[in-house]
Amino acid sequence: MPSKICVDGRIWGQNNKALKFHTLDLVAYETKEERKARYNELALMRYRSNPEPQRTKQRAQRKRRKIEVLTHYSTADYPVCARCGITDIDILCLDHINGDGAERRRETKEPLGKALYYYLKKAGFPDGLQVLCFNCNMKKRISEGK
Ligand SMILES: [Zn+2]
Repeated sequence: MPSKICVDGRIWGQNNKALKFHTLDLVAYETKEERKARYNELALMRYRSNPEPQRTKQRAQRKRRKIEVLTHYSTADYPVCARCGITDIDILCLDHINGDGAERRRETKEPLGKALYYYLKKAGFPDGLQVLCFNCNMKKRISEGK
């Protein structure tokens, strides 16, 4: 009797534990590109069937990266606001000391948000940034009349 195949490629009625041992499956592919394509396919299937563990891992990784980057730009050896001394990682952010953020984004394609932390780490922590809390960042912007 032919087996039915699910939309995501699993065989209907099986408990599909084989998915966890996808490395065995990869031996059957000749070239590196074929193995890579099959690996990515399996990884996507695994992610779609249960995305939460990977999301949790990514969240933790982003937080570790943020702490690392903010620590680098802090005045102390832990993330801290340069003006008021707050250490709450959730409200700390990066500030362009000379207010040239928009200019830098145009020139160096510096991204915004969480992608900025990744970019800065990869670019070897360029100068011109400091750590401020959100309130101090807003206060600085208002006092500069921007
Ligand atoms: Zn502050």
